[in-house]
Amino acid sequence: MFGRAPKKSNNTKYYEVLGIAKNASPEDVKKAYRKAAIKHHPDKGGDPEKFKELGQAYTVLSDPKTREIYDQYGEDAVKEGMQGDAADAHDPFDIFTRFFGGGMGGGQGGKRQRRGEDAVHHLMVSLEDLYSGTTKKLSLSRSVICSKCTGKGTKSGASEMCFGCQGSGMKVSIRHLGPSMIQQMQHPCDECKGTGETISQKDRCPQCKGDKVVNEKKVLEVHVEKGMQNGQKIKFRGQADEAPDTDTGDIVFVVTQKAHPKFKRQGDDLFVEHKLSLTEALCGFQFALTHLDGRQLLIKTNTGEVIKPDSFKAVNDEGMPMYDRSFMKGRLYIQFTLEFPESLTAEQCKALEGVLPPRKSPQPKGTEIDECEETTLHDVSIEEEMARKYAQYQAEARARAQEAYNEDDEMRPQCAQQ
Ligand SMILES: [Zn+2]
Ligand SMILES: [Zn+2]
Repeated sequence: MFGRAPKKSNNTKYYEVLGIAKNASPEDVKKAYRKAAIKHHPDKGGDPEKFKELGQAYTVLSDPKTREIYDQYGEDAVKEGMQGDAADAHDPFDIFTRFFGGGMGGGQGGKRQRRGEDAVHHLMVSLEDLYSGTTKKLSLSRSVICSKCTGKGTKSGASEMCFGCQGSGMKVSIRHLGPSMIQQMQHPCDECKGTGETISQKDRCPQCKGDKVVNEKKVLEVHVEKGMQNGQKIKFRGQADEAPDTDTGDIVFVVTQKAHPKFKRQGDDLFVEHKLSLTEALCGFQFALTHLDGRQLLIKTNTGEVIKPDSFKAVNDEGMPMYDRSFMKGRLYIQFTLEFPESLTAEQCKALEGVLPPRKSPQPKGTEIDECEETTLHDVSIEEEMARKYAQYQAEARARAQEAYNEDDEMRPQCAQQ
């Protein structure tokens, strides 16, 4: 087992820790650990160091293999065999729980607790609320342990073993899959709902009717903080449905951002669209933009500046506040779309030509015009037309493929005859 002969080290300490003789039986080891572990458990005022030592001693001496190595070569060899400090790394509480939870009986605290399910709700929040922060009061209904019977479900406090599953909470059913094939399946007992116990009609707790839990209305104050992100979770630890022998799960609210008619959010940045008339785009503008908290922002161009279609401008520190650093904010982006006039009169054109930069395309004159062919420009909706043409092209391709396939079919018998 070892590459080199290990140095002999202390091989009596673990026996002394448990207070047993070197020839103690496996039963004695268990008994000694049980007694000492309960006595020295830190929850009951015991010394944590002593408790840890007990766990180590028990781990080594309860396994015949490690006990033999320990007897022969001592503590160091065992630790080496457990790969370095793995022997130290064993959680003494884990050992304790495994010992007492593993069907060895034991008093309070020995029962292993199940983890209850989390109750997850979507919390619809407006962008205004995420910008400024808010508190929402929510009324929820949940199960709590019955106060009258403290979760036992009975008047007497005693419970009877379920007859259907012999108290195990599980039932095995057999399915015949074929003449010589069966499948065994384990499932929670339907008579006791997996609890392993039944309550007689007479002994039922009058408050919970033997259910062990009752419904309770609970009002929760949910704090939505500035800058919370879509999908972020707000947890209320241990507030979900209670059940006997169960660690209560959490109530979890998932922040779900409602769509906003004006602002779009991307992380800490905000986007807003603003339509400009052609005159505004060319000659400048100013307008008031109402922010998410009701403030009016004055948005204006610099003198002489021309805004191009679909261009963006940004205002610093007017985006969303950053979560946990709400004094810092992202940027507010404004996308400018342009509204062109539908038509212009001849006079308007003349006036415009007088002030705007000259035309780019060379104008044909006199005989040049006579030599050109007349055309007409039609109004089109380009997306629709392209989609229609694409669908038509696909249908034709399919038809061609089908035709080729049919021809191929007719050819085949002739080939075979050759
Ligand atoms: Zn049962
Ligand atoms: Zn009750």
